[in-house]
Amino acid sequence: MSLQSLTTDELSTFKAEQEAAYAALGSAGLSLDITRGKPSPEQLDLSSALLTMPGDDFRSAAGVDTRNYGGLHGLPELREIFAELLGVPVDQLLAADNASLSLMHDTLAFALLHGTPESPTPWAGQDIAFLCPSPGYDRHFALAEHLGFRLIPVDLHEDGPDVAQVRQHAADPAVKGIWIVPTYANPTGAVVSESVAAELAAIETGAPDFRIYWDNAYAVHHLTAERVKTPDILGLASAAGHPNRPLVFASTSKITFAGSGVSFLGGSPENVAWYLGHLGFRTIGPDKVNQLRHARFFGDADGVLAHMERHRAILEPKFAIVERVLSDRLGPHGVASWTQPKGGYFVSLDVTEGTANRVVQLAKDIGLALTPAGSSFPYQTDPRDQNIRVAPTLPSLTDLEAAMEALATCVLLAAAEKAQT
Ligand code: PLP
Repeated sequence: MSLQSLTTDELSTFKAEQEAAYAALGSAGLSLDITRGKPSPEQLDLSSALLTMPGDDFRSAAGVDTRNYGGLHGLPELREIFAELLGVPVDQLLAADNASLSLMHDTLAFALLHGTPESPTPWAGQDIAFLCPSPGYDRHFALAEHLGFRLIPVDLHEDGPDVAQVRQHAADPAVKGIWIVPTYANPTGAVVSESVAAELAAIETGAPDFRIYWDNAYAVHHLTAERVKTPDILGLASAAGHPNRPLVFASTSKITFAGSGVSFLGGSPENVAWYLGHLGFRTIGPDKVNQLRHARFFGDADGVLAHMERHRAILEPKFAIVERVLSDRLGPHGVASWTQPKGGYFVSLDVTEGTANRVVQLAKDIGLALTPAGSSFPYQTDPRDQNIRVAPTLPSLTDLEAAMEALATCVLLAAAEKAQT
């Protein structure tokens, strides 16, 4: 029964029941963690073959000795595979080292130090703001804040950011960019639609060097039989007369090894030349041995998709547990809503307004670690104090079920406390 429809006595009884359940959890000595979106050991095992590759056969398809310096663009055979998957022309896609976050950092650092191809001056020393569709990826927001940018929240809908809000803010020349996770957003699972992507590509911006940071981290991370397709942002932006607007990022962090994968950067020919022009001073070339073993491990784009099916077989039951426990335990009481993502790594849980911090504290006190409330918002501040990011991938099925049951009890207790005030 919905909490709002309970009488005062019924609410007291309900709260007492949650307190008893919570006390029982407290004596169970839990030690559970659903904080970060890491692959589980079983998922990492799917790529174990990489550990003994490439062996003695360390020459690339073109005969290059991958152990040596050079090859700033990255290995062609691996770029070809991911060009197909990411919908980026192969000449416009670079393969790099292990973290796409580093590519985001470096492109911003280069813009600060040198400006972009269309920047009148370097960004450094200017008032710079970035649009932050929220809830969103905490490290995007943290990086922009760390570089001294102002963070401007905009609403994130199921089909992408609120275009009217983006249009309004982007008219300000200080607004230099927007973070977008187009497919299976972290944490809501939102997928940017064709029409939203087309609008973002075409919007009139105050800054001539406005950038869309199109972080397609979960491009192939499907959780259902449907392989949701990401809009072709480079093509749309070119067609709209803003070819340099998008920078496309991706990596194999959640395909092979989170710490030892390969990252990718895609952009217009001019942006790629701009990036390489600065990169050449930073490095003599990427880790081509790693790129070669990845290319051999996958074989082709279908090999990547087949590999992702094996991830899905491990992950689907985990997301099913989250859905089942939340709908069984919270559904009847009208105290929360949550996403049912078709891919990606997270479920976004909205608890009763004003109780997210309380839920996280209650959970911590009984040995359940949750991502701090507000993490998915600029400046770690959720204006409604209601969002909690659930990361189901790392724990075992048994631990995840226990964690979700405990979380449900904390949500119900916090909601009952709030209803009594
Ligand atoms: N982008 C998003 C949206 C993510 O959720 C993550 C990791 O959680 C990353 C990027 C990190 O990617 P990488 O390991 O390639 O730096």
